[in-house]
Amino acid sequence: MAIFSHPSFDQHEQVMFVHDQASGLKAIIAVHDTTLGPAVGGCRMWPYANEEEALNDVLRLSRGMTYKNALAGLEFGGGKSVIIGDPKSDKSEALFRAFGRAVHSLGGRYYSAEDVGITTGDIMIAHQETPYMAGLEGKSGDPSPYTALGTFLGIKAAIKHQRGSDSLEGVKVAVQGLGHVGYYLCEHLHKAGAKLVVCDLNPEQLDRAATELQAEIVDLDAIYHQDVDVYAPCALGATINDHTIPQLKATIVAGCANNQLAEPRHGEALRDLGILYAPDYVINAGGIINVSFERDYDANAAEAKVRNIYDTLLQIFRQADESGKTTAVVADEMARAIITAAHR
Ligand code: NAD
Repeated sequence: MAIFSHPSFDQHEQVMFVHDQASGLKAIIAVHDTTLGPAVGGCRMWPYANEEEALNDVLRLSRGMTYKNALAGLEFGGGKSVIIGDPKSDKSEALFRAFGRAVHSLGGRYYSAEDVGITTGDIMIAHQETPYMAGLEGKSGDPSPYTALGTFLGIKAAIKHQRGSDSLEGVKVAVQGLGHVGYYLCEHLHKAGAKLVVCDLNPEQLDRAATELQAEIVDLDAIYHQDVDVYAPCALGATINDHTIPQLKATIVAGCANNQLAEPRHGEALRDLGILYAPDYVINAGGIINVSFERDYDANAAEAKVRNIYDTLLQIFRQADESGKTTAVVADEMARAIITAAHR
């Protein structure tokens, strides 16, 4: 398995492979760039089909955290970790303690937090072995409401860019995934007068959305071709791909999921079809912004900073229009400029 020449390596500072025989822990911790501060990024637990898949995921996510933290104006670098295993059956106290010790061995170069498959409770166990954990209970807590707020404001910015007004009254939004973030997002959208079309694997969440938010429910595969204004991916990555792009009727793609574009060329495909894409790591930065206030937690200050996502996205949309580049490329360039300036 190639590491230094891996297509997603992108000059990572450090990649650590962790094995703890007693607990069965197999993890990879990736520290992409610490120019702006310690690398901060969550830990994902997933039953990866093989080690290559886990490595690719952690490298892509870690690099994304560098850019996300830079554009959110945080003094954090980018990093991420993955635990190879099934979150439903492979969790134990020993496993998360071993993970905590591995994070501790990096001496504060990397702070972990919750991500897909990981709960605040798991992070609290790891925290018994190291102070280098973020998103702790009793501090900044669950990041999802802030991620949802940022995503909601990002959708408003996209509508503003296309229509000149950011009113969501009557705007139709297809939300894929009613999990921690997706449901809060739907609540914001409903309150703002948007019409919701939703899908999820969980029938209880669907019933709740239909009853509380008058959401229309559609099958999982039908979400892409709904006659809506906005497609909001809030479940899986890579849902913008060769198969789904031709189905889209939405003129905006704006949701909270990480790594929405299967490949960079799919950003170009969206642009060529006149579909406005809100780069994932910009629109979904609300949670990490909230975590950045953890030390002396202040919810109002955190919310005020999350609200900046609206202006950052408007700036990216304008620059993309002016340059003819994709919004994803413009966002990457802006993030790299911040890091390069800090280097100097
Ligand atoms: P979650 O696990 O709580 O929710 C995901 C939801 O998607 C679940 O309800 C699940 O049933 C549903 N789902 C799974 N497969 C689906 C499919 N094929 N079609 C439709 N629905 C499906 O996760 P979350 O915390 O809400 O995060 C959602 C996305 O946002 C993830 O990609 C995550 O990486 C990203 N994200 C989350 C945060 C955060 O603060 N939680 C921050 C940044 C990015």
